[in-house]
Amino acid sequence: MPVTTRFPPSPTGYLHVGSARTALFSWLYARKHGGRFVLRIEDTDRERSSEESVQAILDGMNWLGLDYDDGPYFQTQRMNRYQEVIDQLLNGGHAYHCYCTREELDEMRAQQRARGDKPRYDGRCRHRNQSPQDTHPVVRFKNPLDGNVVFDDLVKGRIIISNNELDDLIIARSDGTPTYNFTVVVDDMDMRITHVIRGDDHVNNTPRQINILKALGVELPRYAHLPMILGADGKRLSKRHGAVGVMQYRDDGYLPQALVNYLMRLGWSHGDQEIFTRQEMIELFDFSSVQRGSAVFNPEKLLWLNYEYIKAGTVEEIRDHARWHFENAGIDIDEQANWEEVFRVNQQRSKTLLELVDRSLFFFREIDDYDAKSVKKHFKGQAGEILIEFRGQLERLDPWEPEHIHLCLHHLAERRSIGLGKIAQPLRIAVAGVAVSPPIDETLAILGKEQVLRRIDAAVNYINTMM
Ligand code: GLU
Repeated sequence: MPVTTRFPPSPTGYLHVGSARTALFSWLYARKHGGRFVLRIEDTDRERSSEESVQAILDGMNWLGLDYDDGPYFQTQRMNRYQEVIDQLLNGGHAYHCYCTREELDEMRAQQRARGDKPRYDGRCRHRNQSPQDTHPVVRFKNPLDGNVVFDDLVKGRIIISNNELDDLIIARSDGTPTYNFTVVVDDMDMRITHVIRGDDHVNNTPRQINILKALGVELPRYAHLPMILGADGKRLSKRHGAVGVMQYRDDGYLPQALVNYLMRLGWSHGDQEIFTRQEMIELFDFSSVQRGSAVFNPEKLLWLNYEYIKAGTVEEIRDHARWHFENAGIDIDEQANWEEVFRVNQQRSKTLLELVDRSLFFFREIDDYDAKSVKKHFKGQAGEILIEFRGQLERLDPWEPEHIHLCLHHLAERRSIGLGKIAQPLRIAVAGVAVSPPIDETLAILGKEQVLRRIDAAVNYINTMM
């Protein structure tokens, strides 16, 4: 059977980065083995599930580049199939109706507690041969009474659970709806899943699921339970630790390949290597290198990786991911003649795409306001006069290249016996609106002579009205 993995999120919120890592590992494993990757939406909890969440999952998968070969399946569309398998189990003697009332169950548990036993269903309806009138029974799976469930987890190693720890699981509620552990089993069986890769918060479900699969007479999948992802405080990663939704990272200016690379390394390693291409990830991924202990989410490391990916990306790649952010800032990046040069000077210094956009905007649009702090600090003394003199020299400058602009700047500083900053800072405010920019010679070169002269004129006017 070809390797088949699945990702079965419940659509009850955004796509959590922890789930995204599970999806990634499942995807990698399928890709590595030339297998199938199935997407299944576990939406049976109708109250907590929503359309928007389904969309967030699809968007997240798409953004991360985790393509699926099959699906998305929706559990709510498979209800007839679950009913069919419930009937099959009932007819085969592997399941039975349980008529116990809440009161009866409460009393049973109270007695067990009083005896010092662990509360669990004692199977009393297994042998009930008369069905009480007017009651809606649940359906319980007949768990084996003795023996062990043994499985070799691909991450955790051999796991042995005694059947007397497991009671008869409810597989259908009294309203007929199937329960979580049961739908997973039917789906994994029908979708011919060979490798169940999921968070280790599900490890306790596995022996129950194995027993049901055995009763259905199907071959068992292999299991790989991934250690949890924790925040720096050792608690399970949640909103308290910062962004946990995949699409939030897009909004915050991360590149999907940086997040994928980060998630890959979270609990998995290959020597000291930190940066992996997609192809390397697929080739190198294996469960033997997944760590057994939980992994700690480190936002600084993710930011560092993002920075590395932005620096290393081609301008085209970066543009494709930044296009949407520019759009949000009112700029159509495809309309900008000098976008490549702008990216080249900014890529090396931007940790996120938002930073890149922020640093690039003044190249693409007029300055509508000057930064108050910069103005206070640098638009004073002889700033106006210096700008006018420098403008005169720039106007005659030919060719309009960074080296020539650089020389021009040095000459003026020398002649006036002033520091370079006395020219460069007012100049920056004039062209960028704020006293920060890439190297000023490159900045002016990219902006072009006409723009620069115009912006200097506007700044000089502004300074004059200030005085
Ligand atoms: N819907 C479950 C979850 O989101 C998936 C469990 C599984 O992988 O079996 O946790």
